Amino acid sequence: MKNLQTKTTVLVTGGTGFLGVHTILQLLQQGFEVKTTLRSLAKKDSIIKALEKEGITDFSSLSFIEADLMSDNNWDQAVKDCDYVLHLASPFPAQNPEDENEVIIPARDGALRVLKASRDAGVKRVVLTSSFAAVGYSMNTKDHVFTESDWTDTDTSSNISAYVKSKTIAEKSAWKFIEKEGNGLELTVINPVGIFGPAIGNITSTSLDVGVSSILNGTLNYTPSFTMNIVDVRDVVDLHIKAMLHPKASGERFIAASEGVMSFYDIVELFKKERPQYTKNIQTLEPIGKEFYKKISNEKAKTILQWNPRNHEESLLASIDSLMTNP
Ligand code: NAP
Repeated sequence: MKNLQTKTTVLVTGGTGFLGVHTILQLLQQGFEVKTTLRSLAKKDSIIKALEKEGITDFSSLSFIEADLMSDNNWDQAVKDCDYVLHLASPFPAQNPEDENEVIIPARDGALRVLKASRDAGVKRVVLTSSFAAVGYSMNTKDHVFTESDWTDTDTSSNISAYVKSKTIAEKSAWKFIEKEGNGLELTVINPVGIFGPAIGNITSTSLDVGVSSILNGTLNYTPSFTMNIVDVRDVVDLHIKAMLHPKASGERFIAASEGVMSFYDIVELFKKERPQYTKNIQTLEPIGKEFYKKISNEKAKTILQWNPRNHEESLLASIDSLMTNP
């Protein structure tokens, strides 16, 4: 394998996404050679613009390849000469689609396409971005502390969304592939809770749209009876890179979550206190009971990978600041 100074090559799938553009940024800042896939090369300029805003001036270590999770085309080119693959791309719709297969099929088949191509090209390790959706969406939350041993049960739970199903099914299929057909390819999985933190270049995601923008523009006028566990996008990238490089990460899942949990009421109160200048449209919400607060352990990533996530207030304030100063 090439040594770190002379450019280890990493493929990032889904470079147009909120997590994708932050991942490319950190990899370039750390001296990696980066390839990224986009569904359409027409979006290349928006990524370059976002990276320029963050101080990247030399793009000689970044290349773009068109590839869709629903097609075999170009995946062999995308993984060619890569040491590692960070597979982030997956549909994350704000609304539950009428046909759940619109989300499930690209998530599952896309992950399998990326794994097969990576195995055939001799990639060392794939880090798959799954979600806490694949961990803790079907159990009674009361008094349970969720860990990487938990799985969302898509067979017997009726009220889970297409997205939650897609992430669970895709991750299970990936582990099965590695076990049966991996032929030495390593897999590590990251299971983030809601990802917040700064949007760069106006590239947002459903988490920011629902968890911050809907509050700021006043669309959210009641407190949903669930809470949000929060992690900063910059820390999720850091965890992907740690998981990509650490010898003990192979074959493991890692929950990406900062400490604690917030209801939408808590988020509104934080914004009103810390950023009153941005809260003129915010609706007044009611608090909800502590029984809705989901407890999640982030010990595994902290212990094995020495991961040290920032606190959720900092992430949420970075979100509001980036959205309000770059509307
Ligand atoms: P995002 O901004 O919506 O990014 C999703 C990415 O997937 C985009 O680049 C999108 O490309 C790509 N994609 C979707 N369908 C595709 C297809 N058929 N072929 C190729 N690419 C496709 O969301 P994100 O928050 O950055 O999500 C990145 C990853 O993190 C996803 O796997 C998501 O499930 C996971 N995750 C996110 C959160 C969160 O709170 N944000 C939490 C846990 C896990 P286009 O630009 O072309 O649509």
